[in-house]
Amino acid sequence: MWVRKTEEDKKCDEQKAAARRKKVIEQPVLWAFIVAILFATLYVFGGLRGALHPPVGPMSLEEAKTQIPLQFIINFLIFFPLFAFITRKGASENDSAMICPDCKHAQHPGKERCDRCGGALEPLKNWRWKDDE
Ligand SMILES: [Zn+2]
Repeated sequence: MWVRKTEEDKKCDEQKAAARRKKVIEQPVLWAFIVAILFATLYVFGGLRGALHPPVGPMSLEEAKTQIPLQFIINFLIFFPLFAFITRKGASENDSAMICPDCKHAQHPGKERCDRCGGALEPLKNWRWKDDE
């Protein structure tokens, strides 16, 4: 059955939310870093330039010293917002379901009144499921 969350439950939820927020920042940074290094390396060895122009070989070491940081920055600026968007989208789902405090009937988001008894709904995130003993 559904029971209202205690202060301890809410504290635990806050810790989970803080961990999720940390993940929303750290995970895209990590993935953008990895992909930017990979693409900068490919660029220096002629991989991506070869796809756009007639194939070319690896560039000289002198040229690579300036191109690797430049390509890394360009790729990081492209991929970080992309990965940040994907991570944030996944983290914000399933937050808006509602429940009726009178008959404990869970409902879809966007409603204000209970389908069964007409009572005012509350966000389900303030409740937790407790197995019958
Ligand atoms: Zn109800």
